[in-house]
Amino acid sequence: MVDTFAFDKTGTLTRGELTLGDITAFDPLDETELVRVAAIAEKRSEHLLARLIVREAESRNLVIPAIDEFTSQPGSGVIAQVRTSVLGKWASHEGEESHSLHEKINEVIVGSRRLMEAQNIEISTDIEDRLAKLDETGQTVLLVAVDGKLLGVLGVRDTLRAESADVIAELKQAGIKNFALLTGDRSQPARTVAESLGSLGTIEADMLPLDKANWIEEQTKQGRRVAMVGDGVNDAPALAKSDLGIAMGTGTDVAIESAMITLVKGDLHGIVKARNL
Ligand code: ADP
Ligand code: MG
Repeated sequence: MVDTFAFDKTGTLTRGELTLGDITAFDPLDETELVRVAAIAEKRSEHLLARLIVREAESRNLVIPAIDEFTSQPGSGVIAQVRTSVLGKWASHEGEESHSLHEKINEVIVGSRRLMEAQNIEISTDIEDRLAKLDETGQTVLLVAVDGKLLGVLGVRDTLRAESADVIAELKQAGIKNFALLTGDRSQPARTVAESLGSLGTIEADMLPLDKANWIEEQTKQGRRVAMVGDGVNDAPALAKSDLGIAMGTGTDVAIESAMITLVKGDLHGIVKARNL
């Protein structure tokens, strides 16, 4: 029998029905252009955040051309190579011949603060203040950079699943004592979610996919039997490592393939029964 429950946040305890929150665009971009640039980079990503950005661009009737080169950084964001002719004149660097515009390439990065740091992109104190405000309001933060320069910040809001609090309470009643929230998001949005669920115990933020798996392994070594509940590519290694991997049927294929159980309708109530396995 399982004695420990670890949950992913986005798309698991929350609905994953994201909406765009506060947007800040820096010169030379305006809000709309920022959304368009981010959507171009995110077009080929399956992440919930990526799908939100692309949907938002489409709802603004923006054209999102396909790109050739793209790498997804699980748990942190995307890096895309985009032709300058696709981005627009503002993306061409000074002194470049305009007639060769279509052959030039710009690097667009969309993702977490950590991804920006890893790519040596400077975050000014002004922007830090802005990010702190988004953190305080529980918004997930996406940063957008082009050729090493930060050009905007997108806040994203999510809502809890209606059943999350009940399910945690039922598990507590059934004798489960150890709970954890494992997320790739920052600690403030994670704490906001944990607090709305009544104290959840351990909160581990800023986790890469392997960090989640290592956390599970560590608990197992200490003699615990751990159930992991998740929906994303970033949860797959942890789902595979756990004693009882439970995937949200609304989530990504790789999560479902790595888990023992799939909650077909994505209703968390199913895990209360599953704990006896
Ligand atoms: P969670 O554990 O909450 O499901 P993830 O591990 O999927 O979150 O993502 C962690 C963080 O990495 C996100 O909050 C976001 O800042 C960033 N991120 C991940 N994937 C993307 C993406 N495709 N585009 C932009 N940002 C991303
Ligand atoms: Mg998730």
